[in-house]
Amino acid sequence: MSKLYRIGLRESRDLLRAGDIRAEDLTAACLARMDATEERLGALLARRGAEALEEARALDAARAAGRMPSVEEAPLWGVPVCIKDALTLRGVPCTAGSRILENFVPPYDAFAVKRLREAGAVILAKTNMDEFAMGSTTEHSAWHPTRNPWDTDRVPGGSSGGSAASVAACQCAGALGTDTGGSIRQPASLCGCVGLKPTYGRVSRYGLLAYASSFDQIGPMTRSVEDAALMLGVIAGYDERDSTCLDAPVPDYAAALAGADLRGVKLGLPREFFGHEALEPGVRKACGEAVDCARSLGAELVEVSLPHTEYAVAAYYVMASAEAGSNLARYDGVRYGHRTENPPTLEELYVRSRTEGFGEEVQRRILVGAYVLSSGYYDAYYRKAAQVRRLIRRDYDEALARCDALLAPVSPVTAWKLGEVHEPLQMYLMDVFTLSLNLAGLPGLALPVGFSGGLPVGMQLMGRALDEAALLRIGKSLAEALGTGGQAAPL
Ligand code: GLN
Repeated sequence: MSKLYRIGLRESRDLLRAGDIRAEDLTAACLARMDATEERLGALLARRGAEALEEARALDAARAAGRMPSVEEAPLWGVPVCIKDALTLRGVPCTAGSRILENFVPPYDAFAVKRLREAGAVILAKTNMDEFAMGSTTEHSAWHPTRNPWDTDRVPGGSSGGSAASVAACQCAGALGTDTGGSIRQPASLCGCVGLKPTYGRVSRYGLLAYASSFDQIGPMTRSVEDAALMLGVIAGYDERDSTCLDAPVPDYAAALAGADLRGVKLGLPREFFGHEALEPGVRKACGEAVDCARSLGAELVEVSLPHTEYAVAAYYVMASAEAGSNLARYDGVRYGHRTENPPTLEELYVRSRTEGFGEEVQRRILVGAYVLSSGYYDAYYRKAAQVRRLIRRDYDEALARCDALLAPVSPVTAWKLGEVHEPLQMYLMDVFTLSLNLAGLPGLALPVGFSGGLPVGMQLMGRALDEAALLRIGKSLAEALGTGGQAAPL
């Protein structure tokens, strides 16, 4: 009974529906797990223990009264989940990891959050993150850092490090993260769990506190590929309130996994990733073994080239900062969020509120954003970056015309120690393998493939637009063969 928190989304859903476990017990087990681990992890921000228990009890009562919805109506009925603090949940503080949103209580649910609730999920907590999703370690949260459950001296990755740590430590079976330049895939990889960044436009961004709007995507973080498929099916779909949301049919991702195997599947290995000088030998070895495993299962491996990879970091940080600067202009100390005390003038109200409210990394991005968009430098930086973005998309299209998906490392290194990487540029370079996929707007699935020095190593499958189902099928076969599905950190 006490180990209920270890059960995955799909399995707990099935047990709940069969009446083998009660929603209240499952929720209580996860809440107790939070109490037992949170002091060491710092994965969470606002928690809603009492409300979650009450919701779970109501579900049990509905079941007892014969009012349990069908599995199609409520595919996550009674399942406890967490959501990244960049997403609004009505009535619960939402800060995006920033002091500037201290005390902000949103009056509405984000689209993806609403979908989870309609599917019957019980939301336990908001998860910690780098301020406004800017960062790769979750050390840039205004509140506290999050620690990696595999080694609490190390970072969990970021910016969705709270979601990754929470899932890996079994505080919940699934969480929502967001990925602008790798923030789902990289923390999933560093914490040994599964993370899916959907195609740009697959999931509505309504209710997501924007970082870089032409990159941001919301996606599931879970311990198994099956669970990611289940969660994606719930949150994907058209929403008229996000003008970039695609009006494309949502396949039954979970059903698409049946009978998945790798025979005849063609996987591309990008030369620029595997040959990259930053790739640590231990990570290279674990990835090589996963490639061998895919081959032994009948996949055909071909080398492909993404020749503009070396420009991805520069292009991304120019464009994402430009968009961030525009998006964050709304935090002015007037309408909501932090406001400075007794400003002498209106201008000082703005300046002091923003200086006090935003952390150093966010201020740096705002400055870079203003610079690259300024009339004297627009052509040299922003326009160039936009051109590179097109070339990167073309690289992917050409590579993906030759194979079903690409297989590559997620992070060049395993989780590093807190405080170890403090130079901004050094930190940005850690994102070398994740950013280009966001520039291209394509989907990516990160899954654990092994270990190096006792720390998890992840790889990503990158695919064609809206072909998440293919990535999930390939990912499931590979994780199953490697025995890395459903693993929990030994905390
Ligand atoms: N590390 C990258 C950045 O700081 C990506 C973050 C993200 O995907 N939100 O911009």
